[in-house]
Amino acid sequence: MGAPEAFTQTTDVGHFIGGQVHPGTGGRSQAVYNPATGQVARRVALASEADVLAAIDAARAAFPAWADTPPLRRARILNNFLGLLNQHRDTLAAMITAEHGKVFTDAQGEVTRGIEIVEFACGAPQLLKTDFTDQVGTGIDNWLLRQPLGVVAGITPFNFPCMVPMWMFPMALATGNTFILKPSERDPSPSLFMAELLKQAGLPDGVFNVVQGDKLAVDTLLMHPDVKAVSFVGSTPIAQYIYETGAKHGKRVQALGGAKNHMVVMPDADVDQAVDALVGAAYGSAGERCMAISVAVLVGEIGDQIVAKVAERAKSLKIKNGMELDAEMGPIVTAEAKARIEGYIGIGVEEGATLVVDGRGHQVAGHEGGFFTGGTLFDHVTPGMRIYKEEIFGPVLACVRVKDFAEALALVNAHEFGNGVACFTSDGNVAREFSRRVQVGMVGINVPIPVPMAWHGFGGWKKSLFGDMHAYGEEGVRFYTKQKSVMQRWPASIGKGAEFVMPTAK
Ligand code: NAD
Repeated sequence: MGAPEAFTQTTDVGHFIGGQVHPGTGGRSQAVYNPATGQVARRVALASEADVLAAIDAARAAFPAWADTPPLRRARILNNFLGLLNQHRDTLAAMITAEHGKVFTDAQGEVTRGIEIVEFACGAPQLLKTDFTDQVGTGIDNWLLRQPLGVVAGITPFNFPCMVPMWMFPMALATGNTFILKPSERDPSPSLFMAELLKQAGLPDGVFNVVQGDKLAVDTLLMHPDVKAVSFVGSTPIAQYIYETGAKHGKRVQALGGAKNHMVVMPDADVDQAVDALVGAAYGSAGERCMAISVAVLVGEIGDQIVAKVAERAKSLKIKNGMELDAEMGPIVTAEAKARIEGYIGIGVEEGATLVVDGRGHQVAGHEGGFFTGGTLFDHVTPGMRIYKEEIFGPVLACVRVKDFAEALALVNAHEFGNGVACFTSDGNVAREFSRRVQVGMVGINVPIPVPMAWHGFGGWKKSLFGDMHAYGEEGVRFYTKQKSVMQRWPASIGKGAEFVMPTAK
């Protein structure tokens, strides 16, 4: 593969309302950085209340016709979008690297995982097919309809600026809703590009809208009566706020929060496979993945070997500008995030954990202003420490030593987060017991990052998800539709006279 083309456009990023790019009316904007250089690359508009109301108006106006469009025709537009996404995959990936910092090949993977949801959503006619019962009583049939909710909104985090919006809008559009996306203000460009591709694909104006912004935009969406549902992905305190505020305003809400994902390494695991998995899952995307492994639970004597080998690899990570094709890890998204991560390393030292590899102050030649930090490894971390309890969201791996399987399982289950978890073992019974007993939403057996495929649905447990339904898959279809039951009979089968008893099948 030749060198990919970097995303260098410097024009400000605006909103997309009613099929048009819109600069916004509020006059507020925020810098968007290239984290590899530390330079301001462009600015993003921050929506005023009027901008959000304009998007809600556009989405409300477009809803009746879109909801009435046969699912097959909606699916054909999504299929056109799919073709365009495939055509522009590398442009999107370069945008992600330019604003998020993750390495280009990882960004390509992100786009692919988003594309898979679009592929799934193209099955809209099948997904919306429902149950029918003939002759529930003499001359009476009963069936279900799945109808769209109306205007729905998605509020997304910085760490997957392309994939996480695609967890939401392909499903929402396929099921006949109109959509307003409020992306992260830290990496806003992919959202506008996807809006333009949807328009090129033939999506009617107003069906998909983007408002860039911050809490003001979010709160306007959360409190507006015409927004019927909100999907959120981000940190736990904000997820809880979105869930509570959205529910209070009568909305259906799914709010996916933070994580502290453990990987249990049993004494019978293949050491080299476990080390490869830990290094990729802890340091890939600089640990800024909600499914990153941030805790290694080392069972018994295998611990010393694992720590020694991971340390060696953490010290030699290829940390570079993500556009360099041999880069293994890029920079952190912002200077503040880097300071927060390095602050946690200091806390871990003060708490008495053993700092085996210290990534603080890592410099990349030629990129001295970039927000880089190195891979960090702690050993002998204990459950009372903040570096164990709190989400650091950076390339910091904490190793906890335990004596046996029961202690490992109890440790994972006692944690307040329950997004993802992995167990490395060669014992089928351990694998089975682990999968059944662990209190976590997504489990990997010898798979470090078990992000479910498009048709299975994504969601954690405990403080990693507020709401009942997971993102995408069939749960996504249910989230974005209301179930209606229709019972029907025709005059020829109606007997004479009023009935005063509870109707039963006759
Ligand atoms: P964040 O919570 O800071 O921001 C997420 C979204 O909420 C953004 O669009 C942001 O503009 C908005 N927001 C921020 N503060 C707000 C406020 N006070 N009121 C209303 N809206 C507000 O999250 P982030 O830093 O962008 O992303 C990282 C976090 O997301 C991590 O905690 C990570 O674990 C989590 N995450 C979770 C999943 C999952 O599936 N569970 C997936 C990806 C990321």
